[in-house]
Amino acid sequence: MDRPRFLADEMLGSLARWLRMIGYDTEYVRDLPDGEVLALARREGRTILTRDRQLAERAGDEGLLITGDDLDGQLGQVVSAFGLRADRRMTRCTICNGELRLTPAGEVAGRVPERVLAIRDEIFVCQKCGQVYWKGTHWDDIGRRMERVLGPRSGNSPR
Ligand SMILES: [Zn+2]
Repeated sequence: MDRPRFLADEMLGSLARWLRMIGYDTEYVRDLPDGEVLALARREGRTILTRDRQLAERAGDEGLLITGDDLDGQLGQVVSAFGLRADRRMTRCTICNGELRLTPAGEVAGRVPERVLAIRDEIFVCQKCGQVYWKGTHWDDIGRRMERVLGPRSGNSPR
């Protein structure tokens, strides 16, 4: 089965960021009429994630009504509905959903603190907006949250 792609609508900004963080192609839209959200999702083969009951009903099989109020609950709902795994972290930009590319440290000199270059051999750059990523302290936070949401035996603990 293809890796699912998502379209999150307003009020689900954090959820969208987290889905990108664990490697799922997730667009985020705000202030878009329902008809356009539906058309965009259909055009790009995305499942709509929404807190809007009406929109979820219109989307039918191509939508999921997000019922949780907090991020853990929301992420857990999507993870179990689609059987997601956090096996492709560091593949999507959390800001713009662009693809990340593993980039030699030499190419990012000046854009990353010296101390990071000294200890991190894996630097990732967003191909769309240029944001630079590395496995910093929040890497462990991601692992912890995924463990909480997915359970300890999901193979999602930090490397
Ligand atoms: Zn980006």
